[in-house]
Amino acid sequence: MTNDDDAAARRVAGQPRGGGRRESADAAARRIADGVFWLGGCLSAFSAGEEVHYHVSSYLVIGSRATLLVDTGDPAHRPLVLDQLERALGGRPLDYVFPTHPEIPHAGNLPALLERFPGARVVGDVRDYALHFPESEGRFDAKRPGDAIDLGGREFRFLPAYIRDLENTLWGYDSGARMLFVSDGFSFIHDVPSPDGEDEPAHRPGQCRLLSSEMPAPPSVEQAAYGTGRALYWTKFVDVSSAFAEIERTLAELPTELIGPAHGNVIDDVDGMLATSLAAHRRVYEDARI
Ligand SMILES: [Zn+2]
Ligand SMILES: [Zn+2]
Repeated sequence: MTNDDDAAARRVAGQPRGGGRRESADAAARRIADGVFWLGGCLSAFSAGEEVHYHVSSYLVIGSRATLLVDTGDPAHRPLVLDQLERALGGRPLDYVFPTHPEIPHAGNLPALLERFPGARVVGDVRDYALHFPESEGRFDAKRPGDAIDLGGREFRFLPAYIRDLENTLWGYDSGARMLFVSDGFSFIHDVPSPDGEDEPAHRPGQCRLLSSEMPAPPSVEQAAYGTGRALYWTKFVDVSSAFAEIERTLAELPTELIGPAHGNVIDDVDGMLATSLAAHRRVYEDARI
């Protein structure tokens, strides 16, 4: 249940945090669209004496009929995520949990969520989940790309993960907010120092809930390439042009105003970030050929 990016996140979590749980205050839930909340916390580390953050985000989608949580957040943030969720739900139950893949920052709070919300069902590519969570067998509903759930007034559709680190990763799309949920895809570092010995997508304290257009400057291709090459090591060896053609086809079919990565600021300037991300992936691939 680990990979480069998430294993590194665990290491960051183990480092001293100068402000105690200060990241919790920075990372208060934000309503980013009608019926969509950005939840989760940040892991923090120090680099050259400066504190930097790494997102471990979840997103709550609220329809008139049902509610759905994309990714569970990290167990290090369990009380924070449960508290944010209760507030955002405003007394409604959580009906669906969609871990984009079975890694700790994405599925680690599943037992706590299923205990808190006894009616909730787990949706997604849930192969092998009963092995990880045998006590919850019977609450897993397998979904394939193209399947959809009617949340009431909006539809949540499951999509292939065009950029992924595990075979059973899925992306999602909410028709209500026209928002694409991309798991480990589209994680950028911004203009901040990387934590010592770590190369994670990072932001500064206070920037935790900023949309990409609200950040002081968009990430450069170099920064995006740096984060991409470290977090998704396989992209050194795979030409992602075809993946981006698929992503562009998806965006043409499903108009997208927001992109929600698990480990990066929410993207609201979709066209610009797509161009940067594609250029970054190409840079990583071409540099690995030299
Ligand atoms: Zn991840
Ligand atoms: Zn943060």
